[in-house]
Amino acid sequence: MQNESNDLSNVDKDSSTWRTFLKLSPYIIEHKFLLFLSIILLVLSAFADTSLIAILKPLLDKGFAKGDQNFLLMAPIYIFGLVFLRGVANYGYSVFLSLISGKIVMKMRQKLFNHFVDSSVSYYDKNSTGRLLSRITYDTDQVAASSSDALIIIIRESAFICGLFYTMFYNSWQLSLSLLIITPIVIGLISFVSIKFRKLAKAMQNSMGNLTMSVEQMLKGHREIIVFGAQDEESKNFEKVSNKFRRDGMRLVSVSALSTPIVQLVISFGIAFVLLMASNPDLNITPGEFTVVFSSLVALMQPIKSLTSVNAGFQKGMAACQTLFAILEQPIEQDNGKITIERVKGNIEFRNVTFNYESRKEPALKDISFSVPAGKTIALVGRSGSGKTTITNLLTRFYDISQGEILIDNLNIENLSLSSLRDQIALVSQNVHLFNDTIANNITYGRIGEYSQSQIEEAAKKANAYDFIMQFENQFDTRVGESGVLLSGGQRQRLAIARALLRDNPILILDEATSALDTESERAIQNALESLQKGRTSIVIAHRLSTIEKADEILVIDNGRILEQGTHEKLLNNKSVYYSLYTGNKLQ
Ligand code: ADP
Ligand code: MG
Repeated sequence: MQNESNDLSNVDKDSSTWRTFLKLSPYIIEHKFLLFLSIILLVLSAFADTSLIAILKPLLDKGFAKGDQNFLLMAPIYIFGLVFLRGVANYGYSVFLSLISGKIVMKMRQKLFNHFVDSSVSYYDKNSTGRLLSRITYDTDQVAASSSDALIIIIRESAFICGLFYTMFYNSWQLSLSLLIITPIVIGLISFVSIKFRKLAKAMQNSMGNLTMSVEQMLKGHREIIVFGAQDEESKNFEKVSNKFRRDGMRLVSVSALSTPIVQLVISFGIAFVLLMASNPDLNITPGEFTVVFSSLVALMQPIKSLTSVNAGFQKGMAACQTLFAILEQPIEQDNGKITIERVKGNIEFRNVTFNYESRKEPALKDISFSVPAGKTIALVGRSGSGKTTITNLLTRFYDISQGEILIDNLNIENLSLSSLRDQIALVSQNVHLFNDTIANNITYGRIGEYSQSQIEEAAKKANAYDFIMQFENQFDTRVGESGVLLSGGQRQRLAIARALLRDNPILILDEATSALDTESERAIQNALESLQKGRTSIVIAHRLSTIEKADEILVIDNGRILEQGTHEKLLNNKSVYYSLYTGNKLQ
């Protein structure tokens, strides 16, 4: 039963391997010319190998037996030529095949990279970056390495085997046939003997175990044995076990002592049989033919061994390939909106928005409604985890809502193309990510080269970043290191503010944009932020209430709902949640 189910799963594996290979084939066919060339070179290399064996016949028969001097002089040139051909062919196919596989790997990597870039934010919630990284780096390599190895083995070794068979049968089909029949018998007998030997060794181990167990029982249960008068019984039992151990040992020694002569005998029978065939005057076998046939037989072993193991390696590569195709077949971020807008005025409205992260049971936002007129500032306050960032995530359409509507200038944002929507929004968030590039390029990120140096400096000055940038030796050309490690959290935030200032988008999201700043620096860029907010619709999330007092409207969010809504003064007068937050100043 178990075997059957194993077989079934193997069939399954094989068929999915082939389906995957079919999907991979367009990538390969693209390089059909080089591939064709490699196949010819693989066959040529196998041909050279075969010829090097085949030349033994004329070398022995013509050269040495008949003393043909001419041939003996030509032979080295011929052999040299073959080895040269083999070298050239091997070099050629190695280079061509790695050229092909390198290109295939690069194409797959690029496809994966583009796929990852175009995937939605929620995709990254579900997949760990480490896993995705190894897909791009490791799995793509696996695919190429295993398929080119498989190709080399299948083509080259099959051609070599064909060549060897041809040489054998061409020289003497009778001898070849008898060798081909006798070889499996000899191999079979030898493996039979060694299996028997292994079984005996195992039996010996067992009886050794029984022996120690018997002694151990006696030693531990000595009191019981004498109380119950079982001395004789135990003694007989021990004798039985001990005798079995002795006999097993004896058998092992006799088999191992016999096995070497038996194997040698079997081999010599084989050789005797072959010699008998060879000596048959009807066959008229020359020393050269005999040597060639025999050498071919020995040479056959290696390629046959490689061919039998090629499937395992190939399947490993195709398994990696299958995961890659599975990734590529997953949907990327949908961009179905048709409307494109140059620049919105910036009226934002949320209408009864309810939103659920896929991985959570409870909605993160429940029935949220509010509106912000163009150019005004709305502040979101509430404990951490209340849903403030989620509101901004929906405005940028990092996630799509299932209920309700979000409108910008009375247009449902689902009808806007993603790029045109995101072009309207500048985002300064609590975790500013910088790219491993210069400060200037980080400020102009996404539009590198579109701004003049003076524009960049102006933005940096407004963001209160100019002074610290000038302190670096390379100033705006300073590389910030991986993820901006060379900069402090506050400095990174100021670069992000400069970025937003430069982009001049009509809608601004400040999600705890000053959280990494101390009170001093915060006060210093408060002006910068205020000038940034001027003329833009702003959504400000801040944990220090002092920074949002001037907002036109404040929403107090708790557990995904709006608890209170109004201006600073109005909310204070309410003497409710906001009031207690403000007086306790405990928002986080
Ligand atoms: P805030 O910004 O107010 O601190 P968030 O909007 O980040 O809160 O989070 C609101 C709720 O949604 C929290 O309970 C949080 O755990 C959950 N949440 C946030 N992001 C995700 C996500 N990507 N997947 C699942 N749940 C999330
Ligand atoms: Mg947040």
